[in-house]
Formats: sequence, structure tokens, C-alpha cells
Amino acid sequence: MAFPTRPLGRRTLLQGGLTVTAFGAIGLAVPQAAGALTRPARALSSKAAPEIHGTADWGARSPNGTIEVLDQPPIWVAVHHTAGGNSDDTSLEHAFSLSRGIQNFHMDDRGWVDSGQQFTNSRGGHITEGRHESLNALNDGGKHVVGAHVGDHNSDAVGIENEGTYTEVDVPDALWNSLVELVSHMCSQFGIPASEIYGHRDYNSTECPGEVLYGRLPELRDAVGARLGQEVKQPTTWRLVQPGDTGPEVLAGQHLLRAQGMSVPTDGVFGASTQRAVAELESRYGITPAACSAVRKRPETGLLGAGIWPILATTVRPGDQGPAAKAAQVLLDAKGRSSRIQSTIDTSAWKQLLAK
Ligand SMILES: [Zn+2]
Repeated sequence: MAFPTRPLGRRTLLQGGLTVTAFGAIGLAVPQAAGALTRPARALSSKAAPEIHGTADWGARSPNGTIEVLDQPPIWVAVHHTAGGNSDDTSLEHAFSLSRGIQNFHMDDRGWVDSGQQFTNSRGGHITEGRHESLNALNDGGKHVVGAHVGDHNSDAVGIENEGTYTEVDVPDALWNSLVELVSHMCSQFGIPASEIYGHRDYNSTECPGEVLYGRLPELRDAVGARLGQEVKQPTTWRLVQPGDTGPEVLAGQHLLRAQGMSVPTDGVFGASTQRAVAELESRYGITPAACSAVRKRPETGLLGAGIWPILATTVRPGDQGPAAKAAQVLLDAKGRSSRIQSTIDTSAWKQLLAK
């Protein structure tokens, strides 16, 4: 969860077009009908809506200010982990307590008007409303409550905080099942295609929602797509490279950092100096390091992820020399492709080259 107010542009442009979908257009064209769940254009799910406990159920505090509600639905779903404890308590009361804890942290420590995320999913599979009005917006299908969970995209993304830390361990079945149900319902109500389900790391340089849960997002898209009768096209996203990593992606990143004037080694090892250089670049471009956590945790700085690659990955053309061209060659070589750059490497090509 990070909330820099960086000028719009770069990534907004990159995302534009791809996310304004036929589904969204259909959704917007449908006249407002009484009773959101009966809106014909949204009757895509054969499953009943999952049980979602509203803010009054878990004893939420009143917001500290105005909740901003837009007259348009969100266009993508952001999956987070709370980066907190992996509790064994699967009770509803625990889920309510979790929701209160997150809200207290967001209001008292972060200084936000309310919980940052729109929904919370517990390890016991209990779903609660996060920010006030989120449940009304979901039931309506044509509105979006602006949250605070993903930098630069809070006006277009609806977010789910999944309880726990999934960097190394898998989610419990109960959490997974409720996540599939909730996301299916959200996609159905808001008219969001299943291909537009992303992890927080796809938009900010953060480990969130954890390597293991992130690795299951293709499965989540397929499960949601199957429920909604959609064919799912898996998106290509920016790779996350972290301190401690080694290999051609690190080496390519180091060449690209040198192209930005950073003094880093070209050893393919993501050490302290490479991390410092990324952090310096974040600072130079006014990117607030992601602090994705619904619980107290230090911000993540110096990760080479979706927040940084668009700055580094400048266009390379055949015949170009210099560090950016070297970076592209490292990745081409690693993929066993041509050792010469034969066509222009743009943003999309960089993503493909960096993909696993
Ligand atoms: Zn997150």
C-alpha cells in the first residue's frame, strides 16, 4: 500500500486502452436500475453473491472525512496480502478484529480517512467491507469508492487485503475459496474482465501479495473466468527483481541503471549498491517506496519492480550502442535468441524479455 501522488502519465498511458474494455463500456451503457443484483448486463455469474460483512457488523469507526465515490466502476482488481501474521484463528470474530486493527492503523498511523482497502478477506474465509460505502458501490456495480491501497491507481482499482504473508507459504483453502468467490462477484458486478486481476506488485515496486499468492494469480484469473464464462488472456507484467537475486535480469537492470547515470557494478548480483541506486532513482522521480502492509511494516525500498522498470526500460533500436542496448542484449542472450538487436525494443518487448 503506497500512495504517492506522482504526476499521471507514464503508466497510465501504458495501461490505457488495454483496460477500457468492452465489458466496461457495456457496464457504463446500462441505465441505472433499481436493485443492483438484478441488473441484466451483470448477470454473468451463476453463483450467488458471497456473504460480505459490512462495516457496521465489525464495529468500524466512522470515517475521519469524506469518502470519495466515483460514478464509474473500477477497471481492475488489486490483490494484496496484509504482510501480517498467518493466524490459525479462523473465526468470524477474528476477521472482525482484523478489520478493526487495519482500520485503526490506517486512520491513526497513516492518517487516512478510513481503511485503505475496499475489502478484507480473512484466513478463515470471512469477507468484510473495508472502506465505508464499498459494499454499496459493489451492489450498485456502477460506482467506485476511491481507496488507498495502490500508488497512482486508487481511482481505478478496487483492492482486497488478504490476511497473512505469502512470500513463502501458500494461502489456506478457505481464504483461496472466498477470494475466488469475492473476485468473481466483483468482476461480475463491475464488469471487470478476469484478465484484469493483478497483484499489487504489477503496479508498484513491492513484494505484495507475496511470491506464492502472486504465483497463483493466473489460476485465480482462470477460476474467475470459468465462473463468468470468459476466456482468459493472461497478461504480461513487469518482473519483480529483489535484493539477493542474481542472473541476467539483475545484470540487465544494472546496465539500465548505468544508463540513468547510476554507479553500479555489472556483476548480475543484486547487492546493496544496486539497491541503493534503485532507491536513489525512486527518490529522483518522486516515487514513494511502497509500504504494502495493512499492519505495521517498514516501507520496501530499492526493489526493481513495476514502479521502476517503466523509467529504466527506454526504447532501444537496432544499431544502438550503450548501456540500454547492452541490457537488451543480455536478456536476448539469456533467452537463447539473437545476439543482435533486430527490431525496436519498446515497453511491451522489455516486459516480454524480462518475463520468466
Ligand atoms: Zn499491497
